[in-house]
Amino acid sequence: MILGITDGMAQLELRHLHKSYSPKVIPVKDFSVTVEDGEFLTLLGPSGCGKSTLLRLIAGLEVPTRGQIIIGNRDVTPLGASDRNIAMVFQSYALYPHMTVYANMASGLRLRQVPEADIQQRVHDIAQILGLEALLDRKPSQLSGGQRQRVAVGRALVRRPDVFLLDEPLSNLDALLRERVRAELKQVFASQNAPVVYVTHDQVEAMTLSSRVAVLYDGDLQQLDSPQQIYSRPANQFVAGFVGSPQMNLIPLPCQQGYAYLGDTRIPLPPGFSAPEQITLGIRPEHVELAIANTDPSQTIALSGKISLVENLGIQTLVSVLMPTNSQEFTAIRALLPVDTYTIGDTIDLCIPLQAMHWFDGQTGDRLF
Ligand code: ADP
Ligand code: MG
Repeated sequence: MILGITDGMAQLELRHLHKSYSPKVIPVKDFSVTVEDGEFLTLLGPSGCGKSTLLRLIAGLEVPTRGQIIIGNRDVTPLGASDRNIAMVFQSYALYPHMTVYANMASGLRLRQVPEADIQQRVHDIAQILGLEALLDRKPSQLSGGQRQRVAVGRALVRRPDVFLLDEPLSNLDALLRERVRAELKQVFASQNAPVVYVTHDQVEAMTLSSRVAVLYDGDLQQLDSPQQIYSRPANQFVAGFVGSPQMNLIPLPCQQGYAYLGDTRIPLPPGFSAPEQITLGIRPEHVELAIANTDPSQTIALSGKISLVENLGIQTLVSVLMPTNSQEFTAIRALLPVDTYTIGDTIDLCIPLQAMHWFDGQTGDRLF
């Protein structure tokens, strides 16, 4: 076979990709996206939403029910996995246990009959980038989890594929190591040009690594945007609740004649907007002000409630406040406060800036404005 190795420049285009296993199990629903050269797209969503299925469709490990996969100018939909020049990294590393690190990294190139001298050069180049040079003679069983995952990434990189696919590659690593390898991945993939599609259920990975994020739920694309947009302008209540930790406060409220009602407090909605009868107020914990006097009443909503929970996160403190009239709760996050600053049961005033509020349709969950 001809090498099929390019300089790693190609665009990946998914056109109306659809996969159903049965009338009830449709993990990918009419999904379209173009991932440019050098772009890092993350598929983010809870377990079972269809992320791996989508990745396996791109890789050629699953056949789509409908739709097309275009790489560069080539329609690869009818091609098998081995003819697509795609490299995939799995959560489980999938290394050959009986082979050395060197042989594992070289295996894909040997299959493609790349000359041995080229293989040696490429493996050593990538091993250097990933800090694997001293480990090339070891077997996978003699490596830590982080080292194994680096080998799996290295094996993908030496291939110089047209597209990189990674399926939860950090999930098997403990928290500290995950942060370190995440930072390494960001550097490694920033210095190459092929499109990357990365699957995770971890919003921090999605936010830190990606140029764009596709949020998926139950096979449906919820939002496709930059990490900043996903965070600051979530397209619906699902995205609002899924992205952000601690979670956005989401408070269902009745709505009448241009106002939402939180107990006795009227919250004005943007003028000229006809809101549905049920509306959900979204406010991020960092935008809930605690016990602030002298705020401009035309710009903020003042509330009063009882402290229901104080959680010390080490560098930050979470304070939850229960509203007296309707048992709704707001959580605020602050830089670490002395332990006795707030006492459970105390009454406290809250301020919520109008401009930090998000509004969602109470029925559909869609962002309203
Ligand atoms: P994720 O990677 O987001 O956790 P998956 O893509 O693995 O989700 O799975 C999405 C849905 O498709 C799940 O409900 C799963 O049970 C179903 N599914 C995946 N593979 C198959 C299969 N081969 N046959 C039937 N159902 C499948
Ligand atoms: Mg999966």
